[in-house]
Amino acid sequence: MRIGHGYDVHRLVQGRRLVLCGEVIPYELGLLGHSDADVAVHALMDAVLGSLALGDIGHLFPDSDPAYKDADSMKLLSRVVGIMRDNGYVLGNADVTIIAEKPKLAPHISAMRENLAAAFGCGIGQISVKATTEEGLGLGGAGIGANAVVLLEEIKKG
Ligand code: MG
Repeated sequence: MRIGHGYDVHRLVQGRRLVLCGEVIPYELGLLGHSDADVAVHALMDAVLGSLALGDIGHLFPDSDPAYKDADSMKLLSRVVGIMRDNGYVLGNADVTIIAEKPKLAPHISAMRENLAAAFGCGIGQISVKATTEEGLGLGGAGIGANAVVLLEEIKKG
């Protein structure tokens, strides 16, 4: 088994869609970034790459590369899942925590878990997505952050 952790933060700005775990969330602000800035998926990809000691998404999908402008982070996640499998691992489970003062994310958690489970080709019971605020003490509504932890299991041969 291998364990990995990922962390990411993006700034909230006007004129951008808010995308979290592949779900478009209705909100007056969206996350700024070179890709679609899906901060939760970024943290999750970094957790998978970290568990394999393969660096991070900045290394794999550089923001200097125009190919990744406004990229769908769920498509990038599919590529990371492919790298995980090529290295001989499957997902045991993932636990993602989104840190946002606003908007309320509870109505979207089920859809987010389904999106991630589809990307990994695993059951929804292997994917946890949680949301918390920082009681106004942290990012304070200026941005959204995410932490992700994954456990990978080696694919048994033969
Ligand atoms: Mg990011």
